[in-house]
Amino acid sequence: GAGSAGGAGSAGGAGFPTGSGAGAAGGAGVSLRVDDPRRPAILVTDQGLTRGDGVFETMTAVATKGSGTGTGTGTGTGAPFRVRKEDSHLARLATSAEALEIPLPPAADWRRAAAVGLEAFTAGNPGVDAVVKLVATRGPEGAPGGGHYVRGAADVGSDGELAEATEPGLPVPSHLTGTYWVLVSPVSPGLAAARERGLKVLLLDRGVDSGVAERAPWLLMGTKSLSYAVNMAALRYATSQGADDVIFTSSDGQVLEGPTSTVLMARRVPQQDGSTGIELITPLRSSGILPGTSQGTIFAAAQAAGWQLGYGPLEPSDLMDADGVWLVSSVRLVAPVTHLDGEEIPQDAELTELLNGFLAEDREPGEHGP
Ligand code: PLP
Repeated sequence: GAGSAGGAGSAGGAGFPTGSGAGAAGGAGVSLRVDDPRRPAILVTDQGLTRGDGVFETMTAVATKGSGTGTGTGTGTGAPFRVRKEDSHLARLATSAEALEIPLPPAADWRRAAAVGLEAFTAGNPGVDAVVKLVATRGPEGAPGGGHYVRGAADVGSDGELAEATEPGLPVPSHLTGTYWVLVSPVSPGLAAARERGLKVLLLDRGVDSGVAERAPWLLMGTKSLSYAVNMAALRYATSQGADDVIFTSSDGQVLEGPTSTVLMARRVPQQDGSTGIELITPLRSSGILPGTSQGTIFAAAQAAGWQLGYGPLEPSDLMDADGVWLVSSVRLVAPVTHLDGEEIPQDAELTELLNGFLAEDREPGEHGP
């Protein structure tokens, strides 16, 4: 990445030998470098590595097939990809960075870094959908602002083409003391199969109560920080028990979220006129969960379709009694839950299809609720 961890880059330029490419976001709206992600690029003193002290976002880009050699701004009509919910992800990245007090390059730099990374990726992987991970860390320990901000081997001209760099060794913009990068990689092909099969989910205690986010903001509940080791450990535990995924519960018994997903449930509700309405419910945001961009966009579309929206508190028994339960996220999309703690729960293929349709609308998210 650029920022204070930036070193002189090798010529990244066009196309990586295999699946993935990386773009690096710099500050001041100028410096970007494309690198091979298999090459080391981060200082061993970076606090994102040594302390998990950083924030991230994971968004996706859809390959827009048959569009040929677009210039790839990600927004123009000729781009070979379309980044999904980019505004929402950038807004959440800013919120997370604010919570950790990590200075962030402006959104325009992130957009451009994503577009440049995607262009390099698409050159080697035409027509392949991509996962675009944005990372910002607190940067190297010890010498904030002491590094060099290198305009590396590749820069982006106004025509969107990668061009040779001309100005190595620029001083670090004084406020951008973090390390910043964008990683572009292919969407895992296994995800669709998991979605089709549905998920066996374990309810696991997160060990904190539902009021902790408000009471103890230093715990960074509901922030997309890099400290996901606990979330990954929970997933490994579930796997060791023969399950596919996890829904965390609070110590006072509320349903929270998955380690990498938001929980949704739906109920079919008889209306006064004799018809049947649908109520879509997600846990209370104030219980210390991450506000999901997928949940937000699905809720906006569901509301437009006349569904009733609801927000927790939810208990495990509410999930057991629902007409359907799903885990949703940007990469996984809408995955139905088939079992909770080994017990089969009702599924509704029609609702799953409707929810996937809502997500595909890519609406601006409305409210995340209380
Ligand atoms: N909750 C957590 C803890 C997550 O890590 C994620 C995404 O990885 C989500 C929810 C879903 O968020 P989104 O729909 O914005 O991808």
